[in-house]
Amino acid sequence: MNHPAPEQPADVVARLRATFRTGRTKPVERRTAQLHRLREMLTDNGPDLAAALHADLGKSSAESRRTEIGFTIREIDHTLDHLADWLRPESAPVPAHLGTDARAWTQYDPLGVVLVIAPWNYPAQLLLTPLVGALAAGNAVVVKPSEMAPATSAVLARLLRAHLDTDAVAVVEGGIPETTALLAERFDHIFYTGNGTVGRVVLRAAAEHLTPVTLELGGKSPAFVDRGTDLDVVADRLVRGKFLNAGQTCVAPDYVLTDPETAAALEPRLARAVESVYGTDPEACGEYGRIVNERHFDRLVGLLDSGRVVVGGDSDRTTKYIAPTVLADVDPEAPVMREEIFGPVLPVVTVPDLDATIGFINDRDKPLALYVFSESDETRGRIAAETSSGGIGHGLPLAHLTVSDLPFGGVGESGMGNYHGRYSIETFSHRKAVLEKPLR
Ligand code: NAD
Repeated sequence: MNHPAPEQPADVVARLRATFRTGRTKPVERRTAQLHRLREMLTDNGPDLAAALHADLGKSSAESRRTEIGFTIREIDHTLDHLADWLRPESAPVPAHLGTDARAWTQYDPLGVVLVIAPWNYPAQLLLTPLVGALAAGNAVVVKPSEMAPATSAVLARLLRAHLDTDAVAVVEGGIPETTALLAERFDHIFYTGNGTVGRVVLRAAAEHLTPVTLELGGKSPAFVDRGTDLDVVADRLVRGKFLNAGQTCVAPDYVLTDPETAAALEPRLARAVESVYGTDPEACGEYGRIVNERHFDRLVGLLDSGRVVVGGDSDRTTKYIAPTVLADVDPEAPVMREEIFGPVLPVVTVPDLDATIGFINDRDKPLALYVFSESDETRGRIAAETSSGGIGHGLPLAHLTVSDLPFGGVGESGMGNYHGRYSIETFSHRKAVLEKPLR
């Protein structure tokens, strides 16, 4: 049997633009109906999605429920609860020279046809959560899942086509050639999640059409541990935040910064925390993930000799397993400190004091997240005031991005723009200024 040739990117965009121009995507009832369909898609097909995520990344079904499917459902519910409120026009005071009968307000207009390009590490959440915002804002949307999570890409393509209006939401699967072809088209917004190298490719392509861009990038997110904190609690929270998804999380604590005495006390506790979360043999523990592919596996194994192994250090290429690993005595210039780790290796770097900590952070690219474990209001305040990062988490890694009313995004090398909740509406809408003066 002959399969029809896949639709060309130009035709996909033209088809969606034609739909957008009919006005079909704009009524609020229609937006919420699509969100309900998306929700249904997730609740009815959890096992299929979880199986795909397990095939791509060895994620346990509990982890997939929590960080991919459940996460997206919560974003949908939050949006459904508040959308009418968020979209309400906001009036603005009118200056006296326009007369007392003039009125002014802002209203949110959908942008048109939006492109969402997703990465492989949370391949469902990071495709669907931007989609929720783009649909809620009344747009037509092209989504491009990551080819590096092929099972999840295939399941999402099948499910999205079956559940959503295919003339308003298109799935384009593929890798660099397909994405390059898509990027040649004119979009009204491009939302990209991934690394900074490709972020630059996206920004350059967008410049051709003056298309606004959101870049959700990564980087090395530090975790500062102050003297005098409860190190058992700190170790437990660091381990859970770092080794979730085998460390392949954009906001994972990349490395620990602390003074030498605290480091010495923290290191054995990190080892104990790894054992208490993943057991003595993490490879056999069903809750621990795998590295996405051999290229990343080889890169990560190359980082394992950047310091003294406190716990972990072993790996198996055939199953792409790398043990949760803590490295001590790490030189700030060691290979593990020169790039975003994006895997289950946690280096501990020592600094003498708070000033040196702040200097260390400010000498490097602005991180996506910064974590601070300190009992001192003054220390927390100083770090927050004297450093710049996409977000800051005091006492708990990763969790800030689960607060739907907080904007999620980076700054500088960690990205531009943000989303989640009402911030997604800001991102995927144009805030239009309106003035009305009666003719008589
Ligand atoms: P990836 O390799 O899956 O790439 C992301 C997307 O870019 C994919 O859809 C891919 O097809 C496309 N792409 C790759 N090369 C391209 C090219 N030359 N031209 C056009 N498109 C191309 O994912 P990745 O970049 O390896 O993801 C990991 C990075 O993403 C890390 O730096 C991580 O910190 C970051 N990240 C950030 C967030 C966030 O929310 N800020 C979330 C997850 C990951």
